[in-house]
Amino acid sequence: MTSHAEQSAVTVLGLGPMGRALAGAFLEAGLRTTVWNRTPGKEQDLVERGAISARSPEEAVGASGATVVCVLNYDAVNAIVRRDVVADTLHGRTLVNLTADTPDRARDTASWAAEHGIGYLDGAIMTPTTTIGTPAGVFLHSGPEKLYLEHRPMLDTLGGTHTHLGEDVGRAAAYDIALLDIFWTAMAGYAHALAVARAEGITARELAPFAKGIGTILPPIFDEVAKDVDDGRFSDDINPITSAVSSMAHIVHLSEAHGIEAGVMRAAEGLARRAIGRGLGTDGFHRITDLLNPL
Ligand code: NDP
Repeated sequence: MTSHAEQSAVTVLGLGPMGRALAGAFLEAGLRTTVWNRTPGKEQDLVERGAISARSPEEAVGASGATVVCVLNYDAVNAIVRRDVVADTLHGRTLVNLTADTPDRARDTASWAAEHGIGYLDGAIMTPTTTIGTPAGVFLHSGPEKLYLEHRPMLDTLGGTHTHLGEDVGRAAAYDIALLDIFWTAMAGYAHALAVARAEGITARELAPFAKGIGTILPPIFDEVAKDVDDGRFSDDINPITSAVSSMAHIVHLSEAHGIEAGVMRAAEGLARRAIGRGLGTDGFHRITDLLNPL
């Protein structure tokens, strides 16, 4: 059990855009905040706002009961914390890893932490830096619930919503990757659509209001598809794959007629055609989920 002084103190390792936002929110909430970054200089504005700048990761983690690490990926996390001198100092303290990476790497880091007597929570931040310290932040957490509840007051100072997804420490990373899958394929689609629109003399600003309309169509579809996928129901009279694949082919044709590569849409069309080839053309596009990973 950490003392009151340790609970009102936090260390942040990594001062990229996200680490700086996290440290800023902790300072704003009045926590004694110690910071460290591999490349010196990024701590300056935080120090002006009251942060303590540590000279090394071991000095940083020794200053607080809990350390939040938020860097590029787990290679960077390992380079900072998986050294004897840092692990020894972290012994009996808590490491909250808000760096994005894969579930397996989260589980591996948790095993390392357990071997060294370090409390370990893994998490993912689902919203941009500007949401940190505001109600709009979305944080996912996984790992021992008791440890999560112990550090919840510290996490709450970051604002937003915090969801504990379970004791499997890889679960936050698994949600993160599934959600980023949606985000990046959507962004790839939007970037591509703007290129096609530009080739037809339509500016991004002209298309944007209608693009947002596409965004608003999706939430109810997400709910319906989620139910159907979990229940193993794939039929769709209103928008069968045979119809979907035809509109995908139009996108590929127009893109390539303008000399714009259409690899992302070709991949989607290829999946749809695979379903049709298996006699599943009357199903909805979500049949793809079952083709990729059968129930
Ligand atoms: P980056 O992902 O670019 O991470 C930058 C930080 O990583 C810097 O502190 C950098 O140190 C450090 N770093 C990189 N390589 C190493 C290394 N080998 N050893 C030590 N430190 C290293 O920027 P962000 O701060 O934006 O992101 C941090 C995490 O937050 C990422 O996992 C990201 O996916 C996640 N995230 C970010 C969001 C955002 O909007 N920015 C939104 C949601 C999640 P140095 O300054 O020395 O290079």
